[in-house]
Amino acid sequence: MLTNFYRHYLLGASLLIAFLGTFSTAQAKRASKDSVSSITVVIDAGHGGHDRGGIPGQRVAEKEVTLDVAQRLKETLAANGYRVVMTRDSDVFVPLGTRVAIANSYPNAIFVSIHFNSAKRTGAAGIETYFYSRESLPLASAIHYFVAGGAPSSNRNVRRRGYYVLRKTRVPGVLVECGFLTNPTEAAHAQTSSYRQKLAEEIAAGVRGRNTVASALSTTRVATSESIPLQPYIDQTKVAKSKSHGSKRSHKKSTRRKKSSSKSGGSEAKTSSKNQEG
Ligand SMILES: [Zn+2]
Repeated sequence: MLTNFYRHYLLGASLLIAFLGTFSTAQAKRASKDSVSSITVVIDAGHGGHDRGGIPGQRVAEKEVTLDVAQRLKETLAANGYRVVMTRDSDVFVPLGTRVAIANSYPNAIFVSIHFNSAKRTGAAGIETYFYSRESLPLASAIHYFVAGGAPSSNRNVRRRGYYVLRKTRVPGVLVECGFLTNPTEAAHAQTSSYRQKLAEEIAAGVRGRNTVASALSTTRVATSESIPLQPYIDQTKVAKSKSHGSKRSHKKSTRRKKSSSKSGGSEAKTSSKNQEG
């Protein structure tokens, strides 16, 4: 009798545990899938069509490498369960207003614009990530953390600037400059498919980690919208020296220093371009 009772009791308890285990796993799976699939990632491959990107005479066409990275990013994010929309998926010209309108037509979107940098000075090198609105900073920090952290290039920091596509999008938006095509080393990297694949995977890691990375960074006071001043549109392509920040560690230090970023290198992007897009 007593043994029977215990047997039933134990059976019941183990069934309950098994049920709870299954239930919570299923719940957790559903929750994570819901939060991923409710987000639309609008991927914006910079330039296209008659707009080649970069500066006149530049050997590697920016529009081609941005599209390739964008397409790889699309594959990666789709495999992670995200809904993905491309502002362009071929070599066509898409006006900036259209790119913004696409992003704004999805209420729960994030916008990721992919560019490569250029400068008359071939020594200019490194990764920089731009944001404009406060809500975009976590995404910018996370994408920059992974892209700059995984790249053999120097770290040119997270920067705040009113690029059209960042100012006009009503959803969190980031513009990442994945290196200088006018720099021989970085151009060579950008021309290999393995490097473009790596860039796509690092950007995807930033999208996935946009909340966790940002909170981790904020506890170490790396980047707040107060510590990153809005950058003016000035032609800094003639700046003689560019301090390169070789590691995440020096990135942390330099942003903590309340930032002389307008002096330390600045953007080498051709800011005189009428689109103001790097
Ligand atoms: Zn560009």
